[in-house]
Amino acid sequence: MTEADIIEIKELLSTPQKIVITTHSFPDGDAMGSSLGLYNFLIQGEHDVTVVVPTRYPHFLSWMPGDDKVVVYSMNKEKAEQLLNDATVIFCNDFNTSSRVGEEEEALLAANAVKILIDHHPNPDLPVKYMMSVTEASSTAELIYEFIEKLGDTDKINVAVAESIYTGILTDTGSFSYGSTSQRAHQVAGEMINKGADNLKIQGYIYQDNSLNRVQLLGYSLVEKLALFPEYGAGYISLSKEDLKKYNFQPGDTEGLVNYITNIRGINFATFIMERNGFVKLSFRSTGNFSANEFARDNFNGGGHEAAAGGEFNGTLQEAIEKVVSLFPSYKDKLLS
Ligand code: 5GP
Ligand code: MN
Repeated sequence: MTEADIIEIKELLSTPQKIVITTHSFPDGDAMGSSLGLYNFLIQGEHDVTVVVPTRYPHFLSWMPGDDKVVVYSMNKEKAEQLLNDATVIFCNDFNTSSRVGEEEEALLAANAVKILIDHHPNPDLPVKYMMSVTEASSTAELIYEFIEKLGDTDKINVAVAESIYTGILTDTGSFSYGSTSQRAHQVAGEMINKGADNLKIQGYIYQDNSLNRVQLLGYSLVEKLALFPEYGAGYISLSKEDLKKYNFQPGDTEGLVNYITNIRGINFATFIMERNGFVKLSFRSTGNFSANEFARDNFNGGGHEAAAGGEFNGTLQEAIEKVVSLFPSYKDKLLS
């Protein structure tokens, strides 16, 4: 995003616009933090602003300011499509390719609005007019701060904006633990506390408000469903629909589960495999030099970051597991590098 782009965007936003902010399916803390951060900033103008998300998001994010105004595409297609169709400006937050919005894809691509992408995933290919794509950024939420700063509007960062941005940085850095946790991530997070974000309250909502079922699903997964392959420095956890039903699975209940695998000494590559309706979803995490992004892209029609990626498999859960395990030998050198 150049200085000239910023001037044009400032000009665009100087008159009332119908704005939609959208993000990827199964939104996480950064998807919601960046989207609601931008929402709480933009509603201070004369605009008509709505956050449209493809699918529901976890309970641990539902406290966020503006949550009650979010339109979920899968639950209210007609309204979501109307909003996308009528929008004059659409912000695409925290995704790099249109397939990441799932069933919302067609309506998003068909919309005539001026599209602005703000994201930190590599190789964006979304057709947009303006793009702030920074792979090094800890989170899209951090980039929302940069965007507001470039607009010269940091005085409009109120508590609602600050708490949203703080949440995105906190969750996408794994509580400031992943490799993406830069000095800048800490700095922006600190600035959000300056602007009124209550970091302990946010920690409490996100990490200390689990259902008993969720905590027990974690225990069950680690004791019963973990398979390790120390000869490849790899491991996986798989959960079937029956497993999920047994623990009354809710969106977000398996968030972070994959990280427990890489926390094990000698294990640097983790896969989480979950049966969904009609397909299998996979999450990959790497703590070494191995590219999770490449593994997801080459084998599971997916992508993401070098250290954290995801993909999908059309087939049964068992077939997905077998495919993952059968790939380990051909990646042995890279896995152990
Ligand atoms: P998670 O494992 O937490 O769902 O996702 C980890 C990372 O991989 C995120 O940055 C996410 O955007 C990306 N990712 C997850 N699933 C997919 C997918 O199906 N396709 C692509 N291209 N990226 C994905
Ligand atoms: Mn993100």
